[in-house]
Amino acid sequence: MKPFEYHSPRSLPEACALLAEIGADARILAGGTDVLVEMRKPGSSSSKAVVDITRISSLKGIEESGDEIVIRPLTTHAEILRSKIVEQYAPLLKSAVAGIGSPQIRNRGTVGGNIMNAAACADTVPPLIALNAKIKLLSSRGDRTVELSEFFLKPYATVAQRDEILVEIRFPKLPSSARSSFIKLGRRNALSIARLSVAAIMVKTEAGVVNDARIVTGAAFPKWQRVPEAEHVLLGQKPSRTLFDEAGNKVSEALISFTGRRWSTEYKEPVIAVLVRRALEACK
Ligand SMILES: Cc1cc2nc3c(=O)[nH]c(=O)nc-3n(C[C@H](O)[C@H](O)[C@H](O)COP(=O)(O)OP(=O)(O)OC[C@H]3O[C@@H](n4cnc5c(N)ncnc54)[C@H](O)[C@@H]3O)c2cc1C
Repeated sequence: MKPFEYHSPRSLPEACALLAEIGADARILAGGTDVLVEMRKPGSSSSKAVVDITRISSLKGIEESGDEIVIRPLTTHAEILRSKIVEQYAPLLKSAVAGIGSPQIRNRGTVGGNIMNAAACADTVPPLIALNAKIKLLSSRGDRTVELSEFFLKPYATVAQRDEILVEIRFPKLPSSARSSFIKLGRRNALSIARLSVAAIMVKTEAGVVNDARIVTGAAFPKWQRVPEAEHVLLGQKPSRTLFDEAGNKVSEALISFTGRRWSTEYKEPVIAVLVRRALEACK
């Protein structure tokens, strides 16, 4: 690993000032499970300075804020897994973090790092987009709020500037009538990144008719997104296996219309349809 300056600010104003001063050569460090792996790679682009934000206590924790949930970026996957608030109002996020890496990675890795790293296989992103999450970014120039669905440009590229710190993730609580699920397909059961994943939310009226359906895939499209064509199949209908199959097929069609046919299509086309159907069945 190449030598670098190490900074450990204790407050957000201090961190913002450092990032403004150092400029594009600075790298924010949270749990380090992505940053350090990358910095140790031979030939990796070096960072002149690392700004370790883990001593900033205001960046930690999960709380209720009226009808919304606020998760601060340094919250680890293990903390999300243990959170009663997440279990009650965003259970699909709990399912997603349960499958991240190993206990060591879940104890160290943070939700903020998972979002900001923007890997196509990031497991917290599909559920957070399905939850209609917004994120707040802060720099010495001020703050701005971005819809998470608008945040990503492509894998490993986002609209964030190099000096912006993710300071908050916020989303509406799911109603008690909502059912949700997250399914991840990896090459093996443990310590495996997602080859494909699906986050689904379904809300039904008292008459059993779907009045809210959200389907977000991971590692399928060039960036994360809801698939409205598939969601519309369900709206106003009573859930059934036939509808779930149809919704799955719509996701496959949308995938091919985005990516075209390539070497992986033969595999992804049927598999994503089955994953969507299973995710919806789990919401029934
Ligand atoms: C063995 C192993 C297994 C893994 N398995 C999985 C898996 O199954 N699923 C999965 O999704 N990921 C997995 N990961 C990837 C990684 O653990 C997660 O992405 C983790 O959430 C990253 O969080 P971190 O705090 O370690 O981020 P860091 O490595 O500290 O940072 C990641 C990136 O985010 C930036 N960053 C971090 N926090 C902020 C902030 N608040 N504001 C602005 N920028 C910030 C950093 O500058 C860096 O670019 C795995 C990694 C390893 C090493």
